[in-house]
Amino acid sequence: MGNKKLDIAPLNEWGMFTDPRPSVLAGPCSAESEEQVMETAKGLKELGINVFRAGIWKPRTHPGCFEGIGVEGLGWLRKVKNEYGLKVATEVASEKHVYECLKHGVDLVWIGARTTANPFLVQEIADALRGSDIPVLVKNPVNPDLELWIGALERLSGAGIRKLGVIHRGFSTFDKIRYRNDPHWDIAIELRSRYPELPFFVDPSHMGGSTEYIQEISQRSLDLGFEGLMIESHCNPEIALSDSKQQLTPDQLKDLLHNKINVRESDSDSREWKENIDQLRAKIDVIDESILYALGSRLKISRQIGEYKKNNNVAIVQASRWDSLLAKVVERGRENGLSQKFLTDVFNAIHEASVEVQNDIISGKSSEL
Ligand code: PEP
Ligand code: MN
Repeated sequence: MGNKKLDIAPLNEWGMFTDPRPSVLAGPCSAESEEQVMETAKGLKELGINVFRAGIWKPRTHPGCFEGIGVEGLGWLRKVKNEYGLKVATEVASEKHVYECLKHGVDLVWIGARTTANPFLVQEIADALRGSDIPVLVKNPVNPDLELWIGALERLSGAGIRKLGVIHRGFSTFDKIRYRNDPHWDIAIELRSRYPELPFFVDPSHMGGSTEYIQEISQRSLDLGFEGLMIESHCNPEIALSDSKQQLTPDQLKDLLHNKINVRESDSDSREWKENIDQLRAKIDVIDESILYALGSRLKISRQIGEYKKNNNVAIVQASRWDSLLAKVVERGRENGLSQKFLTDVFNAIHEASVEVQNDIISGKSSEL
């Protein structure tokens, strides 16, 4: 089944994000107390942020952690609107949350990663939002499933939501990786190319899981042409009740936005951005990273095969296996527009490295590869 067309209102019609890029939503992971909310909002207002985020209901992995302040916090968000003129945003995960947000004048809602993975809940939320004009941002599902993400967008669009956008926050992995969540930029790039008009935010706080990665992730997402950032900011991150390692103070956020990231010229309303060389290079960097990862994984398996052959006293090279593998690769590669010569060169080099690794194992040498 092909994807449905989405009817999307451009970001400049949402009435809350103003130029220059990036469009930023910032605020604490969780609303914890009236003082914490007001103090953080004051700091963010001073640095020019227009949209304040704070989690009111928090999906936590384990019970017994701080699960959000609940409806009481919506009164604090109202106060942020009244005193500082900021627009306010929070996460909704059920129709009850939606009704409370609409009742309390919340200006934007987002759907969290755990909720996007659940079509029943997304449909329930979409139905509750029907008839309202509130902007909705949909985080990627926790699992790297682009169709599930698009399905959530289709459900909201089907309920008449036009101020619709996405937030990329990375995907859960079982393996330990550098970041808290795997960016899988290829999925984000694919979504952008299918729906170039869809406002696109990146959340470096949840993707990185630590303040140390926020700059590099923000820069990369701007290089890739994504126009928005959602960044967690807390007046006193060390004592935050959730996600304390990944929240910046308003002052640190100011430094990041004003001095540490470089917004490259781009025109997200047209297709011209595709031709921007910086963005194309950033895409190449992402693909190169995947190639390196794939080559590393392949060699790990070669090493295991080497051990196995050694234990079973089998020779390293079985010519027939290699010939049939190469023939398959050439055929598949042709479908992707790759020439026979190119594929033979690349795969012969890969094969050579693999044989070398296995040789080292059989001869008892430890190998760098
Ligand atoms: C959040 O934004 O506070 C949050 C819970 O994020 P995610 O859904 O990306 O985990
Ligand atoms: Mn958080």
